[in-house]
Amino acid sequence: MPGMELFGDEERREVMDVLETGILFRYNFDGPRKGIWKARTFEEEFSKYHGVDYCHMCSNGTAADIISLASVGIGAGDEVIVPPYSFIAPIEAVFTVGAVPVFAEIDETLCLSPEGIEAAITPRTKAVLLVHLFGSMAKMDEIVRVCEKHNLILVEDAAPALGGTYRGKHLGTFGKVGCFSFDFFKVITAGEGGAVITNDRDVYETAHMFGDHGHDHIGDNRGAEQHPILGFNFRISELHAAVGLAQFRKLDLILARQRDYQAQLKEVLSAFPQITFRDVPDPAGDSATTLGFLLPDTQTAVRVHEAMGKAGVGTAYWYNNNFHYIRNWEHLKGLKSAYKLPVELLDNVPDYADIQLPRTDDIMSRMQMIEIRLSWTQEELDGIKEMTQKVLREVLG
Ligand SMILES: *Cc1c(COP(=O)(O)O)cnc(C)c1O
Repeated sequence: MPGMELFGDEERREVMDVLETGILFRYNFDGPRKGIWKARTFEEEFSKYHGVDYCHMCSNGTAADIISLASVGIGAGDEVIVPPYSFIAPIEAVFTVGAVPVFAEIDETLCLSPEGIEAAITPRTKAVLLVHLFGSMAKMDEIVRVCEKHNLILVEDAAPALGGTYRGKHLGTFGKVGCFSFDFFKVITAGEGGAVITNDRDVYETAHMFGDHGHDHIGDNRGAEQHPILGFNFRISELHAAVGLAQFRKLDLILARQRDYQAQLKEVLSAFPQITFRDVPDPAGDSATTLGFLLPDTQTAVRVHEAMGKAGVGTAYWYNNNFHYIRNWEHLKGLKSAYKLPVELLDNVPDYADIQLPRTDDIMSRMQMIEIRLSWTQEELDGIKEMTQKVLREVLG
């Protein structure tokens, strides 16, 4: 799955370019940097690949979430619909801009469902922060329609599904703004890094200024720049951008291998009628970082998970996981923060200790995933396939 498995000479070469000039800052120093612009080049290649007009690289994916929300004008008291199964980062981002995360149900795509979103809408809802989880996509046609119907801003977090498409269009390009992460565990890694993409010039202008203390980035003299807005420091360094750029150029190779390995594993699991697969609205666009599947009931799911673990073919059973699923987010339930959160000043906020999502719980308790490794050789994969078949025969008959 993660790009860290393919670290090599390409990454080293890009980093050396930067070390030779010593210009680690992504802006200015036009002379001394001798034409080396890693963040800018990464932005150009990333936006071209996604078929969008603008890309802003930043320090990490959480920053990309925050920048995206801020750049579309989400702020104090606005409600943002979020998924209960994803990662805490998008939820932290919503709190950080002073807005209110409102949890909605997922469906078998494992992403927010169109019905779930619609049921969570209130007069204060401003946006949907849709996460395309672990390789694959939400029901895009229906979700775009719900957002249009209710005049909601769609923000897409495609951090775990870089390279995924729906009907030929890249995930992250359906909404007003899309975000990505290049942390160490993602499809490609920059060590740390994130991206914000958009076709909206105003959103882009706000994004690059907000992510750098409001600097307008006009001219080659940082001291002479204007600051139209307040912002923050979410800058990416040239060193990180250099690694990200080399990794990004391997994306097609990564996707091809993931899709090949995922298809082989899927074939093995398909022989068992008790197993159903995660709903992938456009199978051709699955970036295939994982293979998600469901069992008919929780007890069987747990038995499969345990037997697979014992056999050395681990599956991820997210229902019990403490950082990807709301069930174990005790910090969220208690609103435990380092400081008084803006939501604590508001009326009408959800009781985070008592979020009821029965459909999501049902799906999550029956679902598990095999994570696809880029570093598997075909021989190793053959061994995993054999072991998987053996374990499933024992448990499922
Ligand atoms: C990884 C991830 C993030 C956060 O990215 P970082 O670079 O680790 O800050 C945000 N959203 C989702 C859905 C992620 O998977």
